[in-house]
Amino acid sequence: MHTDLVAALDIGGTKIAGALVDGHGRIQARAQRATPAREDGDTVMRAVEAVLGELAASPLWGRVTAVGIGSAGPVDASAGTVSPVNVPGWRGYPLVRRVRHAAGDLPVELIGDGVAITAAEHWQGAARGHDNALCMVVSTGVGGGLVLSGRLHPGPTGNAGHIGHISVDLDGDPCPCGARGCVERIASGPNIARRALDAGWRPGPDGDTSAAAVAAAARLGDPVAVASFERAAQALAAGIAATATLVEIDIAVIGGGVGKAGDVLFAPLRKALAGYATLSFVQRLAVVPAQMGTDAGLVGAAAAALTRTADATPARV
Ligand SMILES: [Zn+2]
Repeated sequence: MHTDLVAALDIGGTKIAGALVDGHGRIQARAQRATPAREDGDTVMRAVEAVLGELAASPLWGRVTAVGIGSAGPVDASAGTVSPVNVPGWRGYPLVRRVRHAAGDLPVELIGDGVAITAAEHWQGAARGHDNALCMVVSTGVGGGLVLSGRLHPGPTGNAGHIGHISVDLDGDPCPCGARGCVERIASGPNIARRALDAGWRPGPDGDTSAAAVAAAARLGDPVAVASFERAAQALAAGIAATATLVEIDIAVIGGGVGKAGDVLFAPLRKALAGYATLSFVQRLAVVPAQMGTDAGLVGAAAAALTRTADATPARV
C-alpha cells in the first residue's frame, strides 16, 4: 500500500469517529462526535462534517489522498447511499456525495461496517496472511465480511458477507430483517441474554443481564448460561460452515463483545463446526478471536480507501 495518508470515518448509531491513517495503518490524528441518531438526516450529517472539519484542521490534511467510510448498514456503495438501521434520519442518504463535498472533492470509498472490520483484520489482525477469510462481529447484531483470493470482497453494494442474516433455522423465530431463524436472531448478545433469562437464568446482585454476564455465569458452570452459549455457537458454526462450503475460506475470525467470551463460546463453536463443516475442503477451517480493538472500523475504512488509491494507479509488474 502507498504511504500517503487517508481520512477514515467509522459511522455507527452511537458515535462518528474519524482519523487520519497512514499506509501502515497507524492513526495520526483523531476526531469524534456523538451520533445524533434521533435527529433528522442533515443534523446527523453536520456531526460528520464536524469530524471532517476537525481532521481538516490538522497540518497533515494536505497529504490526504482519499476518504474511506465504514458505515452501519445497510449501505449501497454502488449508489453512494446509506440507510443505517439505527439512524432513521438516513434512508438512502447520499453520504458519499456529501462527504466528497465536505472533504474538498477527494475520492470517497464507502463500505459497510462488517466489511470494514474484515479489511482491518486482514490488513493488521487475525486474518493477516490468509487469502480466504470470513470475519464476523458478534455483538448487538451480527455482521461480517469476506476476503476472497487475497482481496476484500465487499460485493456490488458493500454488504457481502453479512452472515448475521443467513437463516440457519428454517422455521425459527422471526428476525427483524423479515426472515426467520437468522444467525443474528440466535447468536447476538441480546439473544444470548434473552434465551438464558427465558430458561430461568437470573443475574447476580448487580442486576447485569448482558451477554457478558451470561458468559461469566457460564464460566462458573451455570448450565442454563452454558446452554445459551452452546446454542449461539451452534448457529455461528452452521453459518460459518455454509460460508466455507460456498467460497472455501480457511479462517473465520470472530470479534465484537460476544467474541470476547473466550472458551465459553469458542469451545462449543469448534465442536459444532466439526459437525457442520464435514467435506474434505472445509475440515481444516480455523476459528479464532479477532485481534483488532476499537479502532478496527477506522483502520478498515482506511484500508478500503488505500486499496482504492492503489487500484487507481497503473498496475506495475
Ligand atoms: Zn435476519
